Amino acid sequence: MEVFAWFAHKYIMHAWGWGWHQSHHQRHNRRLEKNDLYVVVFSLVVVGLFALGAARWPVLMPIATGITLYGVLYSLFHDGLVHRRWPLRWQPKSGYLRRLILAHRIHHAVHTREGAVSFGFLWAEDPEKLKLRLLENHPRHEQKTSRPGSS
Ligand SMILES: [Zn+2]
Ligand SMILES: [Zn+2]
Repeated sequence: MEVFAWFAHKYIMHAWGWGWHQSHHQRHNRRLEKNDLYVVVFSLVVVGLFALGAARWPVLMPIATGITLYGVLYSLFHDGLVHRRWPLRWQPKSGYLRRLILAHRIHHAVHTREGAVSFGFLWAEDPEKLKLRLLENHPRHEQKTSRPGSS
């Protein structure tokens, strides 16, 4: 599921699906974003899988259950820990969850469709590596931050 989510985030949401996902890369005070429509769509697909599993193809049941579990974890980490949409006060200070949060913040450093890094949700690369890749994608930013002779 994480591979699918990574793929969908990179090749759908940051491609032809940007119309909905853009709302998630802009600052706002609204409770809902157009991007939440993705959750609605994926939920409907899962409901459909459960219905088909119950009616005809039982093999779909564990698949639908797996997708649901991923959705719960995604909602906890992405919406809860990173974007604080849940009333959670706890903020991990170290370890894997911290890394996950930093990596997703680096994803949000870019407000445009192109040039973003770190498309995963439950798996994250080393934030230092992600920052370097971000600078490679945005060389103008690099010129601003590291002038020759200022090291
Ligand atoms: Zn994104
Ligand atoms: Zn996000």
